[in-house]
Amino acid sequence: MEPKKTFAAATMLAGTMTALSFMSAGAAQAQGALVMYCAVQEEWCRAMTTAFERETGIKVSMTRKSSGEIYAQLKAESQNPRADIWWGGTGDPHMQAAEEGLTEEYKSPKMSELQDWAVRQWEQSKQRTVGIYSGALGFGYNTDQAKANNIGEPKCWADLLKAELKDEVQVADPNSSGTAYTLLATIIQIMGEDKGFEYLKALHKNVNQYTKSGAAPAKATALGETTVGITFLHDMVTMVVDKAPVKVVAPCEGTGYEIGSMSLIKGAKNMDSAKKFYDWALTADAQKLGADAKSYQVPSNKNTPIPPQAPKLTDIKLINFDFAKYGSSEERRRLLSKWDNEVKNLP
Ligand code: PLP
Repeated sequence: MEPKKTFAAATMLAGTMTALSFMSAGAAQAQGALVMYCAVQEEWCRAMTTAFERETGIKVSMTRKSSGEIYAQLKAESQNPRADIWWGGTGDPHMQAAEEGLTEEYKSPKMSELQDWAVRQWEQSKQRTVGIYSGALGFGYNTDQAKANNIGEPKCWADLLKAELKDEVQVADPNSSGTAYTLLATIIQIMGEDKGFEYLKALHKNVNQYTKSGAAPAKATALGETTVGITFLHDMVTMVVDKAPVKVVAPCEGTGYEIGSMSLIKGAKNMDSAKKFYDWALTADAQKLGADAKSYQVPSNKNTPIPPQAPKLTDIKLINFDFAKYGSSEERRRLLSKWDNEVKNLP
């Protein structure tokens, strides 16, 4: 069996010195600049950067990292914040950052255009984070590999424990990845904490690699490097659109979902630019860029067309996800530490 690649918090923090460090805050302000930490797929991050620069003339310095990595970076930089805005990624670390005072309250004039779930996220975080998209968790499998390995058609979370899938399931590490934390919180909400951890320990036997980024297992599934990848469904849909032999599965027991979020960084050196980006990113026109970059989440502005490829949330058995509880600082820290101790370190 391949060694499981896990993601150490130390590695996460070591990335703190980014390419941005050469740019002094004063210089950035003089040029009308914006420093953005972006947690969606690189292609979408770049499309947002280019479009905002074109629209406003504000120069954006963007760094792409996974949701949990950005939270850790903001925490490490809290005495001297480098970034102005955190755009994208699952809501849980945004909620944790809000509770810990790492982000700033703001009421955008665009709030009235948003779906209820996006506004609820903002209310629950005391106006410190807002929903920008939503999407359900699930898995995908490579149909060629499934035939070759004789594993049938997995339909349920329970199917991923089959002995035939030993070393054939890939998922990210919940410390770095919001996707994988959503899995952890989802399984606990479906099965209860004790049974949920039993499930995750059993799943560990079939996991070939815990990746850093949540969407990486979708690419690995498309390439046949793993038979099954656990990701947000829209990440697997991107592979299908690219004609990979992948089947997308919304698990039969039900599943969790994310409210992808956006927050202003407390102490941002370019707060005016950050607010301009925030307001713009909530517009229907800006949100359309997601589908153009092959990201098929459900957008939060009611006027943004839902991409036809987006998995329909109404067709999926969604659990009543408790975002406040699983985004709370204490609970998130406790569950990640329990996962490290009881799951990640198993042989
Ligand atoms: N990319 C997409 C398309 C997402 O929907 C999300 C979740 O918000 C992410 C990336 C976040 O990735 P990660 O799990 O690496 O934090």
